Amino acid sequence: MSIEFINPEFEVVRDMTRCTNCGLCEKQCANGVHRFNSVTKKLESDETKCVNCQRCVAFCPTRAIKIVKNPCRISDNSNWPNDTVNEIIKQANSSGVLLSSMGNPKPNPVYWDKILINASQVTNPSIDPLREPMETRVFLGSKSSSIKYDENGNIITKLNPLLELSMPVMFSAMSYGSISYNAHAALAMAATDIGTMYNTGEGGLHEDFYKYGSNTIVQVASGRFGVHEAYLNAGAAIEIKMGQGAKPGIGGHLPGAKIVGDVSRTRMIPEGYDAISPAPHHDIYSIEDLRQLVYSLKEATDYKKPIIVKVAAVHNIAAIASGIARSGADIIAIDGYRGGTGAAPTRIRDNVGIPVELALAAVDQRLREEGIRNTVSLVAGGSIRNASDVVKAVALGADACYIATSALIAMGCHLCRSCQTGKCNWGIATQRPELTSRLDPQIGHTRLMNLLLSWNSEIKEMMGGMGINSIEALCGNRLMLRGIGLTEKELQILGISHAGE
Ligand code: SF4
Ligand code: SF4
Repeated sequence: MSIEFINPEFEVVRDMTRCTNCGLCEKQCANGVHRFNSVTKKLESDETKCVNCQRCVAFCPTRAIKIVKNPCRISDNSNWPNDTVNEIIKQANSSGVLLSSMGNPKPNPVYWDKILINASQVTNPSIDPLREPMETRVFLGSKSSSIKYDENGNIITKLNPLLELSMPVMFSAMSYGSISYNAHAALAMAATDIGTMYNTGEGGLHEDFYKYGSNTIVQVASGRFGVHEAYLNAGAAIEIKMGQGAKPGIGGHLPGAKIVGDVSRTRMIPEGYDAISPAPHHDIYSIEDLRQLVYSLKEATDYKKPIIVKVAAVHNIAAIASGIARSGADIIAIDGYRGGTGAAPTRIRDNVGIPVELALAAVDQRLREEGIRNTVSLVAGGSIRNASDVVKAVALGADACYIATSALIAMGCHLCRSCQTGKCNWGIATQRPELTSRLDPQIGHTRLMNLLLSWNSEIKEMMGGMGINSIEALCGNRLMLRGIGLTEKELQILGISHAGE
């Protein structure tokens, strides 16, 4: 017998003076919280099922509903906070590994918020981005340290394939299956119109999206779902996913319930079977093995596509990145421990990995010291929340950033952190047709465009304030940063001085 001790986390407060019993809340909630009682002729709530996605609140025409945190929980204290107690009760009830989604919510330091950006005053004039050219284009890939010309002025240096972005922000990997067709369509259209990239994740590429290929990064993960020659050649770059910030050292798991119809066909696995990608690539146990895969993918695509290797930010990341740079990869993507996911074991999400800020600074420093920084570009991801995070990441050494959670929020995500249930009321992390239709890809596309365009304007303003007119000139320019409230050790790893110095 299971003993449920847990009070519901959220309380549905219905103002009966406003409620008209229209039943819209019942229709909007895929979790079955609201139901009309035909005897009392009133709407009632089963609060145990509420995940606080705020869909019913947003759609209630008389604003009669509020979802509030339930204050009546098990008695807690600093050592035994309510979440910790509830997790124990859940495991005592179920014997299962706890699953979560989105990023690490723990109150560890967010280093972006402890870094301040410089501005020019008097001697080094700022630049007005409205009146003067400001270059936010970036080229990602392995770059030659010198260019040689023949007697006719033609370049004789062999140039490697590069990814051209109109701004230093791309959409990070989110697979078709973990998010809906409409969400993928919105990301693909926005990336194409802005001139940046979106990323298939490990779910393969739906045939409808091949037309966005020049703005698509196709991913090869350990499960190799949906990977074939046409897929590899469809994208502008190929990403080998070795790890992910939300679950370093752990494979992926898309439940069989989500492997339906197009998702199953695109992944090339049978309907209803769980898609489990193993924790390691079973053919990679060393940098030499990684090099073999890098060159197999280059060979398969006629050396025309840059190869990205994505790793989670973990201890010793600088040495790992040095090895990856020597494997022939063109771009290294570092995913910090606050990065989001559709499903991860809670213990892994909340305790494994390190902040991307520290990892990025350590990797950039190491590659510079080894004289190989030019051979790869660096992409930072894992909770990049706004334009100032992007500017700080670039000044710490990133050539560009990946965003995902910010993009989902732009499309309507209310951060309820229940993507793993497949019942996303906002039509994003779900495959249920009645829910996916709630996200209009055209509206999603417009909102993503608005987000990136506004970030680009803000990036230009911050660069102008520093007297810098190109992302290239900002990249790794740590003199533009100062720390506040950081220890000597943290400042040393970040490679920046304290504010006032
Ligand atoms: S799960 Fe979402 S839609 Fe359902 S009651 Fe809770 S807040 Fe409302
Ligand atoms: S994508 Fe949907 S399920 Fe996931 S956190 Fe956002 S609103 Fe919740």
